[in-house]
Amino acid sequence: MPTSNCPECAAETRCGKYHVYVIQLKPAAAKVPRFKKANPGLDSARPCFYVGSTRHKPQCRLNQHKRFFAGHDSFECPCGKGKAARTRFFFNRGPRGRTRGNRFAGEFGMFLKSDIVADLNPLPTRALAEKLEQQLGEELRELGHGVWQG
Ligand SMILES: [Zn+2]
Ligand SMILES: [Zn+2]
Repeated sequence: MPTSNCPECAAETRCGKYHVYVIQLKPAAAKVPRFKKANPGLDSARPCFYVGSTRHKPQCRLNQHKRFFAGHDSFECPCGKGKAARTRFFFNRGPRGRTRGNRFAGEFGMFLKSDIVADLNPLPTRALAEKLEQQLGEELRELGHGVWQG
């Protein structure tokens, strides 16, 4: 099973393109009313996932969700290189106070399902990554998985 989410990212630094990523969630996520409502066809025998897209290495993004959920308001990204490496410290709150961490990923996220995305990454543009993120979420839902999207 592949452990890398992207064949072009290096061990420590991102490749500069975009990625889709899938985080397996603890089963407790399925008990949250908002999650239940979004997943009427959920098969409780199948794991729940968070599906997102990012320019970061997916592991870096998972660490961000975790850190922001834990209440920290900043994150020093270790996956940037060149110009990105000099601006890798950013704040939790984005424009209009939107948090940059997702509750489901931060509270219930366990690990990345690299096997699902390794053959899909990297994507050349944000638009393509977001489109694929939607498609992947729908496919996983059709298979009975509970899915939350970024
Ligand atoms: Zn990459
Ligand atoms: Zn990063």
